[in-house]
Parts: sequence; C-alpha cells; structure tokens
Amino acid sequence: MKKLAERHPSIFYAKEWDRYVVAGVPTGIREDFVYEFKSTVFSNSAKYKWRIDNSVLPVARTQANIYAGLFKRQRWVVEIFSCADLKLHGWEGEADYGDVERTLKEFKTAEEGGEILPPMCWKCESCKYRDHCKVKDKCKPSRRQGI
Ligand code: SF4
Repeated sequence: MKKLAERHPSIFYAKEWDRYVVAGVPTGIREDFVYEFKSTVFSNSAKYKWRIDNSVLPVARTQANIYAGLFKRQRWVVEIFSCADLKLHGWEGEADYGDVERTLKEFKTAEEGGEILPPMCWKCESCKYRDHCKVKDKCKPSRRQGI
C-alpha cells in the first residue's frame, strides 16, 4: 500500500520531552512540510465518511502535526487511500505547535494514571487490551455503532 504514497525522503528522529523520548518516522519530509500516508478499509461515501472524518483522519492529522512539531515544519499533508473506493483523499494544514504540546500533555496525564478520555465504543471492540482495560466500560456509544 505504501507504493501509493508520494515519494519523499524520510528520517528517524527522537527528541526528549519531559521525562519521555518522542520518536517518529514520517512517511515523508520536505523543507516546509511533513507528509503522512495511511490506508483504510472505509470509503469516503456518505455512509462511511464519518469513520474517516472521526477516526482515521484525526489520528493521521495528529500524528502529522506532532511530526511537524518534531521536525519544525510549517505545514502537514495527509493522504488516506481508501481500499473500498480505490481513491486517494488528501488534506493539508498549518502546523499547530500548541496542539503538539497539548497532545503530549494528554499522553502524560494518561500515562501517569490521570483521567483518560474514553474513546468511541467501536474502537474497543477489536482492541487487544480490552480484557484488561478499565476505561472501556466508559466508552462513548455511537449512534452509528455497528456500521
Ligand atoms: S479497550 Fe481500552 S485501551 Fe482499548 S481502545 Fe478501548 S479504552 Fe482504549
């Protein structure tokens, strides 16, 4: 699937943040943007678009934004290939370094045993940690759950 991604050079980079090391390898990196490629089984049709908009895209965008912060790039570009409709969908935006900091702080809060925002219930259905997870009981039901 990666063959469908745009060709850009990439690099591994790790940086200390608080008491952690944030490491990453973006799909690609250029002088002014980072590029992240994902694939999904969902189509971008009216029926399934919400899955891309509410799960695949936010995760990819957050990851790309963290890379933008890590590599000090001004923009991020995300492409998601839909295996269902065989189309490549693209998004891009300005890097938000403040959001990188917020995301890392949310991770730290969760890792230190603080309050964890429960995900949508459908995410827990196939999670390999569900047998040991105490958060799953607070998951948020979706009116579209089961699609
Ligand atoms: S089962 Fe727990 S770890 Fe897995 S997605 Fe749900 S809340 Fe997250």
